[in-house]
Amino acid sequence: MPQFALPFASNQNPEQIIYFKSARIIDPKSNYDKIGDLIIYGDKILDFGDNLLPDWQNKAHQIIDCRGKVLAPGLIDIQVHFRDPGQTHKEDLSSGSASAVAGGITTVVCQPNTSPTLDSVLTFDYLRLKAKEVAYCHILAYGCISKAMKGEELADLHALKNAGAVGFTDDGLPVMNANLMRRAFEYSKNLNVVISQHAEDLNLSNKGCINEGEVSLTLGVRGIPNISESVMVERDIAILEAIGGRYHLLHCSTRQALDAIRRAKAKGLNVTAEVSPHHFMLTDAQVLKSGTLAKMNPPLRSQQDREALIKGLQDGTIDAIATDHAPHDVASKDKPLEEASFGIVGVETMLPLSLTLFHQNILTLPQLLAKMTCNPAKIINSNAGEIKKGAIADLVLIDINHEWVIDSKLFYSKSKNSPFDGFKVKGRAVLTAVAGKIVYNNL
Ligand SMILES: [Zn+2]
Repeated sequence: MPQFALPFASNQNPEQIIYFKSARIIDPKSNYDKIGDLIIYGDKILDFGDNLLPDWQNKAHQIIDCRGKVLAPGLIDIQVHFRDPGQTHKEDLSSGSASAVAGGITTVVCQPNTSPTLDSVLTFDYLRLKAKEVAYCHILAYGCISKAMKGEELADLHALKNAGAVGFTDDGLPVMNANLMRRAFEYSKNLNVVISQHAEDLNLSNKGCINEGEVSLTLGVRGIPNISESVMVERDIAILEAIGGRYHLLHCSTRQALDAIRRAKAKGLNVTAEVSPHHFMLTDAQVLKSGTLAKMNPPLRSQQDREALIKGLQDGTIDAIATDHAPHDVASKDKPLEEASFGIVGVETMLPLSLTLFHQNILTLPQLLAKMTCNPAKIINSNAGEIKKGAIADLVLIDINHEWVIDSKLFYSKSKNSPFDGFKVKGRAVLTAVAGKIVYNNL
């Protein structure tokens, strides 16, 4: 049975020594990949390598046998919806972070479409204080671009950055107002923070509920076309090019948007992109099998899009993998396709699903891990996501060959909405340490 420790910020023993023995230590940022040992002292990495002083093993309070397993920086998921404050019957900081660490994630970035939205210093104070009390992992958050995410008036981005916002987005909704986007980029330039867009032209989406294509035709429901995403990305890049600043495309789903990012990168513009596991794993055909559990925004797309996203991961156009973890209760999904809520849970399945890219020889393990550690860290100006002497000890121990079947009933999330229920996968997090404390242990 997996064990959870108390929230990581409590009862930290500053003298605690944990010794990880004989792991394959991978640090994508420094290109380190060797069998060796690693020592945690208090909340930091004291040392690691293949030639440590034997004395440390004798001093250790705990020795963890890591033979055959990979020790990597804790994963960073820069897109989660933990529904706190406002919809804590679907998820809260405690259940969401427990679910995250069970998936090997040690840092999450919450999206600001809570209730109230994260558009004030007060809401950031709430998050910080509550996280300190109940969270199993580091909880970071984006601030809103517009007040109450109404898309009308710019929020106080300067004050929000000082309160801890790692970037800005109105995710859940796009910023439709181009002038507001222009002003956000001005702040981005001056504050050195990222502006992240849920790229969707709402007029083109036209209240569609799944991808516009054969499946939407078969089911007789209104579809969301690819241009709904790509038109918005092209517009944003044009504004970015004129103003400056930094742009990040959330949950890229189409080959056209990907191509726009590729061209912008070739021009030397400051753009990054992420993809969610469901978009490179599934197509809209999954809606025929899973119904509303396969309804999310942006929607699952065509096979052509899926293949393009995998290429984008390979050639570096896509920098990061992020889940868009969007918990919903049964009532929100137990509805006709048109009326059900958008979204799936994802933090417990990100690592095993992403490992498919490694098992299918699409990415090497260091390349794959970079997209869930140092790359997302860079986007949010964080120095987490690396194994380095003196760094905060956020670590995940991975059994890459463990075969298992995803069972959504066993999720630690309060919500179970996943189309991956019953999927056979290979690899999982077996131990997660946050700031030197083992918060999840399923060894
Ligand atoms: Zn979104």
